[in-house]
Amino acid sequence: MSRLDSFIGRVTAQRDILNHIRDDLDLPKDGPVLEIGLGNGRTFDHLRERFPDRRIIAFDRACGAHATSVPEDGNLVLGEIRETGRGFETGTAALVHADIGTGYPEKDAVTLTWLPQMIAGMLAAGGIAASGLPLDDPRLEVLVGPAAVPAGRYFLYRKR
Ligand code: SAM
Repeated sequence: MSRLDSFIGRVTAQRDILNHIRDDLDLPKDGPVLEIGLGNGRTFDHLRERFPDRRIIAFDRACGAHATSVPEDGNLVLGEIRETGRGFETGTAALVHADIGTGYPEKDAVTLTWLPQMIAGMLAAGGIAASGLPLDDPRLEVLVGPAAVPAGRYFLYRKR
């Protein structure tokens, strides 16, 4: 598969999974959405459209988002997520979306030494996590994603 095909597969899976969460899954009534890896802000913008009543807090090293997709003051946390995310391990998030895979297995292996535990700590009971990297944590139950998303392309969980 070319990198172009792979990119298309990733963003299509993101759209399908985020729509599936909105349309088919129950989220805790309260609690913010956490966007782990703001990047260009495309998935942030999709989340904002799909969950207009939720506070959405985005994380990144620096703000590189399109001007139309920059979170409002107080909802953008800059710095290394391994550090900045710690203050959000409060067990209150309704939804965490993480898109910080790099395509370099050795770099992603380092991320996976801290990301699953952090996301499990961020979520409220019953909260949902969607991630481009697999999240292996006993507090996270694997959910089957929408049929359109091939197995192993994107990962979906509910906090026990
Ligand atoms: N989903 C986004 C979109 O639709 O535009 C794209 C996210 S992009 C693939 C990943 C982003 O995560 C990059 O902007 C990168 O700077 C950020 N990132 C990755 N690992 C990070 C880390 N450990 N700490 C802070 N930011 C990180």
